Amino acid sequence: MKMTVYLVQSAYQWYCSQKSKDDLGLPDLNRPNAKGQVDLFLGERFCRYNNCPKDSPATSTNNLRKHYADKHADITLASSGGRPSLQDEKDAVEFYVAIRDEYDAKVAAIAEVKPEIPRKADGTVHLTNMRKVARERGGQVPCEPCKDAEDSAGCCREENADRCDNFDLFATREGGSKGEEAE
Ligand SMILES: [Zn+2]
Ligand SMILES: [Zn+2]
Repeated sequence: MKMTVYLVQSAYQWYCSQKSKDDLGLPDLNRPNAKGQVDLFLGERFCRYNNCPKDSPATSTNNLRKHYADKHADITLASSGGRPSLQDEKDAVEFYVAIRDEYDAKVAAIAEVKPEIPRKADGTVHLTNMRKVARERGGQVPCEPCKDAEDSAGCCREENADRCDNFDLFATREGGSKGEEAE
């Protein structure tokens, strides 16, 4: 049996391993073709009907087709008969890769949100917590620039914010004044 291309694509395997369509940001269904029929991509498992509450994947594309027939009788799916063309397979791979790329971008954007610098009640840096979080986020204490300055003890201290790499791991306050700091 010849394994079709889209089945061995990692993006497709990733798509099939998803338990819920909520996080996937699936595109709307394709517009009906000239015959008024809607095309699915090869291998689709999740219903893309607008606001359909079915969140979980169908166990096969055939079962997904049955779901459309049962629940969304206002649309007609184009038949899946015959061997898929190379173009069909290409389109499907592009479809799954685009979904995964978008998902990855969303996850990366969330990870990019930096934490606030831990501060004590008086507003000064809470050194212990700052160093702990810096390490958790991949920073070193002391960081290289603080080591180079032979001031390991000064790492993560506010007065070294311009030098210390670990401040990059935290959100900066836009427009925040540093008071009387002489430049
Ligand atoms: Zn549905
Ligand atoms: Zn440092």
